[in-house]
Amino acid sequence: MKSHPLLDLCHEMVVVWRLHGPDDWQIEYLNPAWENNLGWPREQLKANGLRAFTLPADNELTRIALVSLLKVGSLTFNNRYQHADGTYRWLLWKCRYSQSQKRIYAVARASADQQYPENNAIIGVTSNGYINGWNRLTENMFNIEMWEALGEKLSLYLDRHQVITDAIKDRHSIEYLISPAYRKGQKVFNLLLSLDIQDDDRLVYGRLTVHDIAASIHTNNYLATLLRRSQSIAKIGGWVSDIGDGLLVWSEELFNILEVNPIDFDHRIETFLKMIHPQDQQVVQEVLRREQKYSLDHRIIIPGGETRWVHAEADSINDAQGKPLQLVGTIQDITTKKLLDIALQDAEAWYRAIVNRISSIIVTIDEQGVLKYGSPSIERILGYNVEKIAGHSIFEALHPDDFTSVTQSLATSVNSPDQAINISVRVRDTKGEWHWFDGSFINLLNQSGVGAIVGSGRETTERVLLEEKLRHKANELTWANAELREFAYVASHDMKEPLRTISVYLDILLKYIENPDPDMMEAIIFIKQAVTRSNGLLEDLLTYSRAGTVPPNNRQVNLNRLVTGVVSNLQGRIEQTKGRVTLHSLPSVFIDPTRIAQVFQNLISNGLKFHKPNVPPVVEVGFDGAKFYVKDNGIGIAKNHHADIFRVFYRLHSFETYSGSGIGLATCKKIVEQHAGCIWVESQPGEGTTVFFTLGASHGENSQIAAGGG
Ligand code: ADP
Repeated sequence: MKSHPLLDLCHEMVVVWRLHGPDDWQIEYLNPAWENNLGWPREQLKANGLRAFTLPADNELTRIALVSLLKVGSLTFNNRYQHADGTYRWLLWKCRYSQSQKRIYAVARASADQQYPENNAIIGVTSNGYINGWNRLTENMFNIEMWEALGEKLSLYLDRHQVITDAIKDRHSIEYLISPAYRKGQKVFNLLLSLDIQDDDRLVYGRLTVHDIAASIHTNNYLATLLRRSQSIAKIGGWVSDIGDGLLVWSEELFNILEVNPIDFDHRIETFLKMIHPQDQQVVQEVLRREQKYSLDHRIIIPGGETRWVHAEADSINDAQGKPLQLVGTIQDITTKKLLDIALQDAEAWYRAIVNRISSIIVTIDEQGVLKYGSPSIERILGYNVEKIAGHSIFEALHPDDFTSVTQSLATSVNSPDQAINISVRVRDTKGEWHWFDGSFINLLNQSGVGAIVGSGRETTERVLLEEKLRHKANELTWANAELREFAYVASHDMKEPLRTISVYLDILLKYIENPDPDMMEAIIFIKQAVTRSNGLLEDLLTYSRAGTVPPNNRQVNLNRLVTGVVSNLQGRIEQTKGRVTLHSLPSVFIDPTRIAQVFQNLISNGLKFHKPNVPPVVEVGFDGAKFYVKDNGIGIAKNHHADIFRVFYRLHSFETYSGSGIGLATCKKIVEQHAGCIWVESQPGEGTTVFFTLGASHGENSQIAAGGG
């Protein structure tokens, strides 16, 4: 084979063997590099064959390498050769076998450290899965020598061999592949592999860089890559600065976080400090100056002008005396989290501001009533320190009489999520006083962030006490009414009895006196009249008291018919006074007929009674669409008496002038007011009198009348 100028220039040793017969290899070509590297003349090497210069210990390995080469077509291996100076040199071989040309082409390189130049364990793999490379580090890792491994199937050593051979066939490299490895058929360790494709035209093979994950975790590229990746995922960048030189070294991720182009960065601390938010600059400068461990959140303004939140941590690396030599730190982008935190804090502040000010109390409790949270209003209203009562049962401050109802409400709430269960409770304050609350339980046990039953309540103590007072007053009134009824009974029954006795005995007396003296007779008649008047008075009083005590019996009543009845009852009076009663159309109303009849009767009879001397009474009864009226042409009433005439026993005349008890109008007022109406009078002395009244709420269509009247 002819030499080539390039091969003459090449530093690497090139050799071509030609196969002449079985196991008969002859060197066809050696380039000058052989002489430079091993010191022997080329002729000598050619004449003796390279095998003669091999370290005897490597002979067997070399023989096997050759056999493997013939089998797999390409090979990488190393062995040792003697130099002219007597020492041995490591040679790294790359060989190819061409079956058609019956030649082996090989390149050998002297490796200075007697090792592969690589710092990693390497396995060469052909596309059909045979091992064609196995360096010293691989030998150490597997504890299998090169000559044993070369030419073997990769499947003997690696579990994931198929993935690797497929990748070689497809000519694509693999960055990371983890595969269990075997040594003599036994799984020994996990390897981290990367596959490069060596593609020299006709022969494609793979070069596996192999890391024993457990053993090599500290130093290799894999870790650097892993670190870079994890920094990028966590958005954490690292930096280091030698104390005193004012320079910073950043990790790749820090450039990403701060959006700084590495070419633009001058690595000066001041340049970095300028990027810090004005409001945070002082504190960051301060911690850097101290040259000690620190941890803080601060803002950065990136070159685009946007503000970023970062979490910064740093620590110093000290010399033996404890003097800081370097500061090493990390910067993590926490913008998203921080903005969320700020939004959350705002929401929290908003919620707190409201909860702190509301007058209602709010608690969150578990199913048993154990307090988790209590609103500050508890302290204001009940005096308990809300932090101290957390963990206590609400039952501790509850009125014993409310235990059952609260236990039941709590159980109902547990079984009905999201529904408000109303409660009314008494709670003891720190001074032992009871407070009333109306509120509810809402089961939010399944709501994330709450996970509790929420109890809320508004204090009703004042209202409850007022109600209590009112109830008391009502009781008093009932009692007083009972008294009054008693009194009415006594008045009507017991007091009428002696009057009847007087009347009866007067009659007996009259029978026994043969010739009564006219004066005596007059006296007896006076007594009789007084008795009759007293009887009438008692009768009226009884009517009045009954109007207040007996419950009304309301129904829909046609007033035309009712008042016609009243007028016919008064027929005797009308004739006696030669008077006249005119009835205008009256509505149908919802009232107690007996009582309203009493009102009309009292008013009409007053109209008939208080007529001017020698002027027959004319009484008109009607309804003007808003109010009822009873109008007469009688003596009239002076304005200053208009209100007083509705009081009991209030009369403007003597019994001699006009009979009566002074109770009639008071009874009318009482009845009208019971019907939610009012009554008043319009009159002038000598001009006749009109009494008006309304009937209110008890009569739907008249409700406006009631409001407008008076
Ligand atoms: P009495 O039994 O005296 O009628 P009332 O309560 O009905 O009692 O009336 C109280 C007083 O009002 C009467 O005594 C009278 O002085 C005056 N009064 C009532 N109605 C009229 C009227 N229609 N005309 C003039 N005065 C009246």
